Amino acid sequence: MGIDIGGSHVEGVLITSRLGIIKQVREDILKRDRKNFLKTLDDTIKELNDKGVKGIGFGVPGPVKNGVMFWSCNSTFLEGIDFSKIGMAVSKNVSVDNDVNAMAFGEAFARKKGNLLAVTLGTGVGGGIVIDGKPYNQRSFAGEVGHMSIDPTGIKCTCGSRGCWQEYVGSRGVERLAFKHLGRKMSPADAYDLAARGDGKAKKLWEEYGCFMGVGLANLCNVLDPEVIVIGGGISGAFQFFEKSMKKEMKKRLRMDIPVIEKAGESAVAFGAACMAKS
Ligand SMILES: [Zn+2]
Repeated sequence: MGIDIGGSHVEGVLITSRLGIIKQVREDILKRDRKNFLKTLDDTIKELNDKGVKGIGFGVPGPVKNGVMFWSCNSTFLEGIDFSKIGMAVSKNVSVDNDVNAMAFGEAFARKKGNLLAVTLGTGVGGGIVIDGKPYNQRSFAGEVGHMSIDPTGIKCTCGSRGCWQEYVGSRGVERLAFKHLGRKMSPADAYDLAARGDGKAKKLWEEYGCFMGVGLANLCNVLDPEVIVIGGGISGAFQFFEKSMKKEMKKRLRMDIPVIEKAGESAVAFGAACMAKS
């Protein structure tokens, strides 16, 4: 069983030993407080639970130590929850890791690849690194790719630094580009819809967005040289509109062949969490 803990939802999957998803549940957290969250989590686990469950994994939106998520930027009601203790009620085989690490691990595991980078594009931008088949998470803060600066005098980030990648490719970045190309503030979902309807200016927005994606991914390729890059998170829905300019920008900046770059699979975090418990 794999559980994806989000700030506003809980999603769970049950997978087979051959990695097929056989059951999937998604519940919204109606009120963002600890009591409501624990009830939603309990309901999700109950709905998925099966006598044959051999392990349970959690992907949580923050850094983890000893099964406890100890810090969260956006969902403080999750801080201090001991997920390994909750998992023990289902199986003795419990795994808890950061959500992007879980996604990266699952994608690498399913593709039988040893070296993979996963990037999630949402309000924040996260990264998960798999090296030699293992999630790289040495001191709990590895993979914070969103705070890699791509402009020393650039936009001020919530972390206090300047020019952080997430200010260009996270949802605030899309909003800024919408202002530039379309003259108004717009959510990534609306900018996607507009491009899908064939709007030329919206397509230009995504083209420029792809350049910023390419700059960041080229930096990461120079450090990690992954075999595969997987892109997840809400904004990855617009992949088709930024793929071309992203790859073009990467090719301009890299001396190596660019790796395979794909959108993450369905329920990628929950699936990855289940793979972690399985392995
Ligand atoms: Zn930052």
